[in-house]
Amino acid sequence: MELRKDPITRSWVVVGHREDVAASSLGCPFCPPKVDSQQSLLRLPPQGPWQVMVMPHPDPLYRVEGEPGRKADGIYDNMRAVGADEIVIETPEHDRKLEDLSENHILLVMEAWRQRIEDLKRDLRFKYVSVFKNYGALAAQVGTHSHSQVTASTFVPRRILYELRAAREWFAEKERCVFCDIVKQEERQGIRIVDTQGEYVALCPYASRVPFEIWLLNRKHNYLFEHPRPNSNRLNLAALLRRVLLRLRQVAPAYHLVVHTSPNTIHPKREAAKYWKTIVDDYHWHIEILPIVESRSKSYSIKEVYFNSFLPEQAAERLRQLDPKG
Ligand SMILES: [Zn+2]
Ligand SMILES: [Zn+2]
Ligand SMILES: [Zn+2]
Repeated sequence: MELRKDPITRSWVVVGHREDVAASSLGCPFCPPKVDSQQSLLRLPPQGPWQVMVMPHPDPLYRVEGEPGRKADGIYDNMRAVGADEIVIETPEHDRKLEDLSENHILLVMEAWRQRIEDLKRDLRFKYVSVFKNYGALAAQVGTHSHSQVTASTFVPRRILYELRAAREWFAEKERCVFCDIVKQEERQGIRIVDTQGEYVALCPYASRVPFEIWLLNRKHNYLFEHPRPNSNRLNLAALLRRVLLRLRQVAPAYHLVVHTSPNTIHPKREAAKYWKTIVDDYHWHIEILPIVESRSKSYSIKEVYFNSFLPEQAAERLRQLDPKG
């Protein structure tokens, strides 16, 4: 297993890994009491029986030990698949989905994401920490027990690099954050807003890649998901995410959810520090949800260009009308 860099797109690809945690005859690997004996990285709440537990991935994509050892292979680049790969078990109950949990419980799940990002970023080998959730068979969820994943990598994923470059250029030109600008215009127009709570907004992005694509953002600027603004109440975000997912499950059987936050900017190399000069002001954390609808859109077969058959304005309107009560 190793990482190879595509010299054309500059994206890193993990080659030679086959995930194999399918629920065996031994039963669900994330259910108590079996999971209680596992080595855990975090249990929340800290006292009493756990509601959310983080453990190392039983079949990790990356290995946590060693240096990446980036090297050349003729004209190509490769490195060892060094990183972290963790499972966030969102509930001890096998049959409850994320949106079935209480707002306070969802807040604990997000707190686990936050703490793991913060902790993994202390390791300077890691340039980026991804938090994501694959829900449903169409999204290649492993098993059926509700969980999300945290991975730390020695490179910044390509989609994040695109966002970072665009945000930096927008800021260089306008001295404003592109995400703040998006939220402002969307709130003014209202047509693509799905729901709001407190300082948090859920919207269907203007150029949605798939039907019912939804982003969750804080109206107030902050580049780090793992460092909430003082006085921001994340319970509002938990409540908003819950309602969004309750709506979404009425139109889509599966989704990918991903938290986009700033890369690790604590960097030993000076040139890197220069590169991230305006990141505090130009980047803005957000959560992206990419549903997979049953009538498969072409975007799944032709990845180069997204063909979304559904207008984001119609998607937002439909989602607003759906009952967000569990
Ligand atoms: Zn289970
Ligand atoms: Zn912003
Ligand atoms: Zn993003």
